[in-house]
Amino acid sequence: MSSLRFNAVEEAFKKKALEVAAPSKFTSDYYGKYVFNKAAMVKYLSKDTLKALNNVIQKGATLDIALANQVAAGMKLWATELGATHYTHWFQPLTDGTAEKHDSFIDYAGAPGEAIIEDFSGKLLAQQEPDASSFPNGGIRSTFEARGYTAWDPSSPAFVVDDALVIPTIFISYTGEALDLKAPLLKALAAIDKAAVAVCQMFDPNVKKVVAYLGWEQEYFLVDEGLYATRPDLVLTGRTLMGHDSAKNQQLDDHYFGSVPTRVASYMKDIEFEAYKYGIPAKTRHNEVAPNQFELAPIYGECNLAVDQNLLMMSIMKRVARRHGFRLLLHEKPFAGINGSGKHNNWSLGTDTGVVLHAPGKTAEENLQFVTFLVNTLMAVYKHNGLLKASIMTAQNAHRLGANEAPPAIVSAFLGTQLTAILDKLENSTSEEAIIIDDKKQLHLGIPSIPEVFLDNTDRNRTSPFAFTGNRFEFRAVGSSANCSSAMAALNTAVAAQLLEFKAEVDAKIASGLTKEKAIFDVIKSYIKECKAIRFDGNGYSDEWKVEAAKRGLDCETSVPKIIEAYTSKSSVALFEKMGVLNEKELHARNEVKWETYTKKIQIEARVLGDLAINHIIPVATRYQALLLDNVYKTKAVFAADKAEKIASQDMALIEEIAERISIIKDNVEALVEARKAANVIEHEDKKATAYHDVVLPYFDVIRYNIDKLELVVDDEMWTLPKYRELLFIR
Ligand code: ADP
Ligand code: MG
Repeated sequence: MSSLRFNAVEEAFKKKALEVAAPSKFTSDYYGKYVFNKAAMVKYLSKDTLKALNNVIQKGATLDIALANQVAAGMKLWATELGATHYTHWFQPLTDGTAEKHDSFIDYAGAPGEAIIEDFSGKLLAQQEPDASSFPNGGIRSTFEARGYTAWDPSSPAFVVDDALVIPTIFISYTGEALDLKAPLLKALAAIDKAAVAVCQMFDPNVKKVVAYLGWEQEYFLVDEGLYATRPDLVLTGRTLMGHDSAKNQQLDDHYFGSVPTRVASYMKDIEFEAYKYGIPAKTRHNEVAPNQFELAPIYGECNLAVDQNLLMMSIMKRVARRHGFRLLLHEKPFAGINGSGKHNNWSLGTDTGVVLHAPGKTAEENLQFVTFLVNTLMAVYKHNGLLKASIMTAQNAHRLGANEAPPAIVSAFLGTQLTAILDKLENSTSEEAIIIDDKKQLHLGIPSIPEVFLDNTDRNRTSPFAFTGNRFEFRAVGSSANCSSAMAALNTAVAAQLLEFKAEVDAKIASGLTKEKAIFDVIKSYIKECKAIRFDGNGYSDEWKVEAAKRGLDCETSVPKIIEAYTSKSSVALFEKMGVLNEKELHARNEVKWETYTKKIQIEARVLGDLAINHIIPVATRYQALLLDNVYKTKAVFAADKAEKIASQDMALIEEIAERISIIKDNVEALVEARKAANVIEHEDKKATAYHDVVLPYFDVIRYNIDKLELVVDDEMWTLPKYRELLFIR
């Protein structure tokens, strides 16, 4: 082992788990302590202010400056008591992650130079104009007119991180176009609320609000910090661009749900304490399938808040990892040959009367409502399967989708045997009949002292990208590093439009004399027939499915730049415009950003790969080759000719292999550089991204393949980069 690598590995294996102590025995004692939540509001706002603010949050009343001033005063006092000296508008630009710029509360009490006070007005709370000209905007806002505004989102509570009061905001241009991911999500959520309430009222006139729920499951990898630092590819691209399989990785399935390594357990504890302080209801933690891969999942909540909590959680996880001597990898595919990381988005709709609309009910009436929402969801996914795929597609996620462990690059929906049978029966029924769903089946085990087990009414299919799991759909194709907003905005918009259409069709039938039940049954039956192509319960990984899906007319495109085009298809533009979520100009601008981001990601990877190949791998391989050559010479000098020939022949074969691989690597790196140069001068972002996908990317595989083969034969002592077997096993 090279000394640099040896030291890093030694240090990594010597590290001990950090002792982590909970702030209190009871989580509820400190839960949400750093959030300006209901409890804090009650304490720091007057009754009238609280009532007016609730009207804004729950009923969408407009926020006037007087109210903003009152809220700001209470919020500032609360935050200052927690140690905040600064405030920041926190927004979600079209890059990965979040953005913030901190300003201090201080201001002159009077003229400049006079006494200093802490000031935080309603105006500062409600709106800011960050000089954010460097954020991607797809041409909506050119740098010379760099006006972008952030505006407070009162529906997601402010919180304190270190010394800053953090205020969730949307980010829009001077002309009102969205420059972020939150603004369209909020519009989509408003659209689904309205559309779903109208449908719910056909069943229960008391329903006044429908909320979209999101429960995300965050997968992640941890790598020791020292080892990470010696892998330039991990540092610069978030994934390993080379590295041969470890002899042992996930074949034995011994990591999944296994006991968590002590160092990691202490990290998990620590991130959960942080989560609780921020009111994030972290619930589940476990080892994932791949070595060094883990998951954290909170209890589901309102979609906009859940998205913000996920973004905050990702940044907490990153920060806390450093404390434990780890680096957090949120990349969708940090290591080849083992599982990648996703972020299942568990999604459902629920009413203010306490009904989860995607959960089967107890009565026939409730079940008719359930089937209505189920079938309309299927219809929306069917009509917009290409768009939904685009909503989760990135350069990173492309490594995951279609590879043999993740959902395929085709969006289909899984229902399970029981629901499939119900829909089949409905489709063929001639009159409306009661829908009976046996929600829990008992399994008699016959083992004394073991209670009876209740079987869920859904089976599991891990290969499906959009699976029904009992009381929700699980959109599994979302990537681990993604902002859930993109997927959630597309899904909620599509379902909202579908519900509107449904309501109109049912109303038309009622107007023509049908009973309400008959009208609903008729429309549902026609939908079940129409959207059959989206339903698939088989093995999503199989090649047969790809052929079958193409026959069914589902979107089977695999090139990222092409997949993204679904955003500006006729049907997508019509959908987003009709629902008032994004206009055509915004959609085009966003695609420009997506293509540009794709190109840059591949460009950076290509440069890192080229650099490592030329200045790490080839020099090491050449040095080892020279050693072998020296041995051949000496062998020939020492042994008699026939004996020497025999002894040296093995070295010679190895020397030839190394020479050949070096030459292949060199040639392909040169070709890669040329391909990049040619792509870089292409003017249009879509064509440039396509060139990066079609022409630049294919060189990665051949270069990597030969590097990985060299890793197997070159003296371990010389190899500078930590290997998979070292990176992947935390002790
Ligand atoms: P699994 O790994 O089996 O998919 P987990 O328990 O890890 O399941 O995660 C399931 C997630 O789904 C949790 O975040 C849970 O709170 C969430 N969830 C449960 N019911 C609903 C629902 N009706 N709507 C949205 N999310 C839900
Ligand atoms: Mg899941």
